[in-house]
Amino acid sequence: MVFPSSRKRGKMMNSPQGSLVGRCVPGIGIAVLGGLIALVCIVVTNAGSEPVSVPKLKLIMEKLRPLHTRLGKPKPGDWLASHKEPGQTFEQYLRCRPVTPQGKRRIIYVQPLGDFTKTQRKIVTLSADFMSRYFNRPVKISETLPLSIVPAKARRTHPQWGDKQILSTYVLDQVLKPRLPDDAAAYIAFTPSDLWPGRGWNFVFGQAALRERVGVWSIYRNGDPDKSDESFRLCLLRTMKTATHETGHMFSMMHCTMYECNMCGSNHRRESDRRPIALCPECMAKVCWATKTDPVGRFKKLSGFCKKQGLKQEAAFYTKSMKALK
Ligand SMILES: [Zn+2]
Ligand SMILES: [Zn+2]
Repeated sequence: MVFPSSRKRGKMMNSPQGSLVGRCVPGIGIAVLGGLIALVCIVVTNAGSEPVSVPKLKLIMEKLRPLHTRLGKPKPGDWLASHKEPGQTFEQYLRCRPVTPQGKRRIIYVQPLGDFTKTQRKIVTLSADFMSRYFNRPVKISETLPLSIVPAKARRTHPQWGDKQILSTYVLDQVLKPRLPDDAAAYIAFTPSDLWPGRGWNFVFGQAALRERVGVWSIYRNGDPDKSDESFRLCLLRTMKTATHETGHMFSMMHCTMYECNMCGSNHRRESDRRPIALCPECMAKVCWATKTDPVGRFKKLSGFCKKQGLKQEAAFYTKSMKALK
């Protein structure tokens, strides 16, 4: 497998086996549906902070390294057991002319697509809040689009499992690209429907166009958030992981091969569940550089969010990271 360089067009997707994976495929054409929709937006958070220079980010990376676990040999069935990936250091990222929030393109838009239960909608709103803290961007939630805008030719019932699915590439090309707001750093659809990306695939959790600022995420396979408090937290954590992992790809971050990290590729649910939502020092530096963010302020905001949502392990790690920099 070859990852897209900054000059190639491609898209990252989650695997049909049920996890986060990266795959380079040819760029997909843009078919334009006329007219932009009116967007009703809510600004969730705008976490402003002072930008940090590259030399200072490198010092910070060294202080954080002892807190992180190096990736061991992949287990059978893991992503890196079957995909040779080069990884991407902070230095390599700086050289690849990454797509970043810049100029007027500074807002992350979340586009609900389809009918959500009240609890699912809460998951989307909380995930939008978390993304805002993770990427130091304002996040706006657009007016919900009905699933009926996806025509029959872009739908199917899974031949063996019976799941109703919509074609992820249709959502990217026909739903999102024509509606991409002028000020969007990223435009991301969240849907309760299952997704599949085309022939040969069972399903995907999500899919993002690497250089075109659009992506789609499904919460269909993240568990039932109404079952218990614990299942709510698990569904929230899974949704936040997918959303931040894929948005990382949209800002030209490749899969991490160095540490246990949210930007690691995963081949199945167990693998994605055991990956942390935190970024390793290399990937953290990419986000902080791309979004002009002070790491200490970022850790504080992420820790506060996780604490409030009962994500104790995640909150503790962000607090520990913050303390390591003081
Ligand atoms: Zn990925
Ligand atoms: Zn990493």
